[in-house]
Amino acid sequence: MANVSVEMRGSTRPSLGKMDTQSLVTPGPIATPRPRAVRCSMRNIWKSYGATPVLKGVDVRVPEGTFGVLVGPSGCGKSTLLRLVAGLEEPTEGTVELAGRDVTDLPPRDRDVAMVFQNYALYPHLTVRENMAFGLKLRRSSEKEIEARIAEVSGMLGLELLLDRLPKQLSGGQRQRVAMGRALVRSAQMYLFDEPLSNLDAALRAEVRIEIRKLHDRIGATTLYVTHDQVEAMTLADTLWVLNKGKVEQTGAPLDVYERPRTTFVAGFLGSPNMNMVEGVLARRGGQWIAEGGSVTTPVSADRFGNALAEGRAVLMGVRPQDLELARPDAAIATLKVEFVEALGFEAFGYGWFRVSGPRIVAKLPAEAARRVRTGDAVPVTVDPDRVHLFDPKSGLALDVADS
Ligand code: ADP
Ligand code: MG
Repeated sequence: MANVSVEMRGSTRPSLGKMDTQSLVTPGPIATPRPRAVRCSMRNIWKSYGATPVLKGVDVRVPEGTFGVLVGPSGCGKSTLLRLVAGLEEPTEGTVELAGRDVTDLPPRDRDVAMVFQNYALYPHLTVRENMAFGLKLRRSSEKEIEARIAEVSGMLGLELLLDRLPKQLSGGQRQRVAMGRALVRSAQMYLFDEPLSNLDAALRAEVRIEIRKLHDRIGATTLYVTHDQVEAMTLADTLWVLNKGKVEQTGAPLDVYERPRTTFVAGFLGSPNMNMVEGVLARRGGQWIAEGGSVTTPVSADRFGNALAEGRAVLMGVRPQDLELARPDAAIATLKVEFVEALGFEAFGYGWFRVSGPRIVAKLPAEAARRVRTGDAVPVTVDPDRVHLFDPKSGLALDVADS
């Protein structure tokens, strides 16, 4: 498949360079409280291949100038959703709107979106520069503008020294950056990225991730970005949608979703290592609500769970590894029996059990603890009640959601 640019004929939109200058003189989002128009709106999207539904009633709205991220495990339908925006797939049911226009039945070339595919392909006989210029030439941009755009984008992606090479003279990561560059040099209503960093090594991935976000902050191009990587999702998104098996489990600003996961799936998906989950039962002790079970007794927040708290109610207690803190034995909510310690230098993770038959528990330890905590040690830990999440074991819904 030739790389992605889903071309639109006769675009009269300003170049990114021009938008850039405007963004320097117009106030940013903090100074403009009026609500942004919705640039891309997908309503009740269903998509089946044969009899198998892969998207089941998905709603996504990306406001103008914002960075949206679709995140979820492999196979949950992220790429399919992105391809529906580009017009490369048709929904079985539902509508796709771009800038208020129903484009559900329009072919890709009439949609004015630029996309970077997961499996990008470059024109093998064209240099990096020519690959990047290709879409702009079709659109009859001036030589000067093409040169300026390529200079800017290649600088951003670290491609300046590679402009005269052919794709076969590049590493996988370099080719991936050229594929991104091809989409970014264009001016489009919407930029779609399908896991663009997955072929890069870790250091470059972190670097390009920051460049992508910086570029977005500068030019405010409306973006929808697909990844299975929770770090990318957390760091890039204005709004993220967590997808699971063809459905949106939760949407919101990254930190809001992280702090208040609505389901055990979202709780487990965002955050690394995963949130610990222990089965327990609710009870009252001297006016304070607690959850106990699996050799853990923890206070829980009545402010947060109010109505959902009932004596004897079965719950899953969720605590993130970094919310478990070392404690004096008399102040501990549980004792971690250490199986092994992973020392990362800047921090350490202690793996073990609260109870031998219970689930494996991970606690983040201070970096220096790695030198003194040994396999077989018993480490008392505690948690701030505000950091204890509760879920209904049957529905998997957070208690404050299930009972609201
Ligand atoms: P993701 O990008 O989240 O990994 P995809 O959107 O690529 O997931 O795929 C979602 C599901 O749809 C997967 O189970 C995949 O096998 C299936 N699927 C995707 N494209 C097709 C197709 N053309 N024909 C049949 N099944 C497909
Ligand atoms: Mg995919």
